[in-house]
Amino acid sequence: MKKEKREFQIPEEIGEVSETLRRAGFENFLVGGSIRDLLLERVPKDWDIATKATPEEIIKIFPKTFYENEFGTVGVVNEKTEDETLKTVEVTPYRLESGYSDARHPDKVEWGKNLDEDLARRDFTINALAYNIEKKEILDPFGGLEDIKKKIIRAVGNPEERFNEDALRMLRALRLASELGFALEFETQKAIEKNTTLLSRISSERIRDEFMKIILSDSPAIALELAARLGILKYISPEFEKGIGMEQNQAHAYSVWEHLLRTLDHSARKKFPPHVRLAAFFHDVAKPHTRVWKNEQWTFYGHEVVGAKLTRKIMGDLKFPKELTDKAAKLVRWHMFFSDTEKITPSAVRRVIRNVGENLIWDLVNLRTSDRIGTGRPKETPYRLRKYKSMIEEVLRDPISVKQLKLNGADVMKLTSSKPGPEIGFILEILLSEVLENPNQNDKTLLEKRVLELHALEPAELSRLGKDARTKNETEEEKEVGKIREEYKVE
Ligand code: ATP
Ligand code: MG
Repeated sequence: MKKEKREFQIPEEIGEVSETLRRAGFENFLVGGSIRDLLLERVPKDWDIATKATPEEIIKIFPKTFYENEFGTVGVVNEKTEDETLKTVEVTPYRLESGYSDARHPDKVEWGKNLDEDLARRDFTINALAYNIEKKEILDPFGGLEDIKKKIIRAVGNPEERFNEDALRMLRALRLASELGFALEFETQKAIEKNTTLLSRISSERIRDEFMKIILSDSPAIALELAARLGILKYISPEFEKGIGMEQNQAHAYSVWEHLLRTLDHSARKKFPPHVRLAAFFHDVAKPHTRVWKNEQWTFYGHEVVGAKLTRKIMGDLKFPKELTDKAAKLVRWHMFFSDTEKITPSAVRRVIRNVGENLIWDLVNLRTSDRIGTGRPKETPYRLRKYKSMIEEVLRDPISVKQLKLNGADVMKLTSSKPGPEIGFILEILLSEVLENPNQNDKTLLEKRVLELHALEPAELSRLGKDARTKNETEEEKEVGKIREEYKVE
């Protein structure tokens, strides 16, 4: 077996687990994705250790462990660390699997005698590396180091056999391609193309988990394009295939499918949250259902309404949680808020906010930005979009008004035993202008005292002060709005 000396920065917590095993007489290695990630200078999501010890032996030598699976994996718990990836270290006896009659689960899991057997059952060469922490040495039986250098994902052994053992590996290959920016080795690709139907035996939940990892990767389009080309896409949902090569109108340089990929990739580059990325990928999914040739061009009326329904259907089939589905579907439903025929007025903006909800309004704007980039239009924030953002902030903010006083018109009337009339308004405007100068003045007792003082003034004097205060307050309000508009560089 090929060996190579390498020094890595291994977290102390991992080193300790390995050392404890070694002192108890059990050979052990760091295995799986963490070595791949160390070599690529990526932060490992989890740390796995493979060892000669049996589960019972592992449990005996650590103070706190849990063991609740049929694979022999023992979670070694470290309560001292704050780092989520180090809280439990998965320690697994060398494994040897045999017989996969359902392309899903090994019929029985047996403990292997040595590391070679354990590495041989792993999916890809880049994941079949082991590291001896004590000797600072990488073990590489299948050429994983070379494949990492070449940025290639290659199945360990015969790819067709490996995919027949566990069909999910096909999706894992695509997911890794997106996460790492790697290419699929030719034989591995061919084997996927030939064996796609095996995926029908994989549960929606497992497909969903890989799909979500693709969506959350830096370049989701890599995996999804491969999925389309190799015939896997329909196992995520048959809906997406309908947009492949589907021509749109002049405003779009790309087909429906390519536009969805570009929109999603932009939202990933921008590191937008999961629901925005999902909405980016789903937003035009219903275009194939709504396409009509009219006035010399293709139209897609109502695609956002049908799209929201399809989003719920697809995410439901994949067993996505309800909350995430709701958010994504809502964004899809309202993604057309920026239509050309609609003027950007405060009431139009208020309507959009009411529809999508205050919590999603900025996500909707981000979806819109991604949508534009996905269309191939160069500028991310043209004037109209900036105007929209400014208007949203204006509508969402609390305007400067007597409503923010800790006392209202009824209080003033009661305090001064007066009837409704302009005097009440004058008093409130004066109080507001004073509170704007000195926010500490917005205190019920202080305000009450001041009401009595103002009430004692000559009516003409009160009217003059009241009108001045109103003008001043209105100017303050305009200044606040002006600041927002300046920030967005809009009129
Ligand atoms: P991640 O970055 O998502 O943690 P990973 O490659 O570490 O990626 P895990 O699911 O943590 O993936 O699995 C750890 C290791 O177990 C893999 O690197 C691989 O060696 C092996 N493995 C996981 N799933 C399979 C599978 N379906 N078939 C064969 N080996 C697998
Ligand atoms: Mg891992």
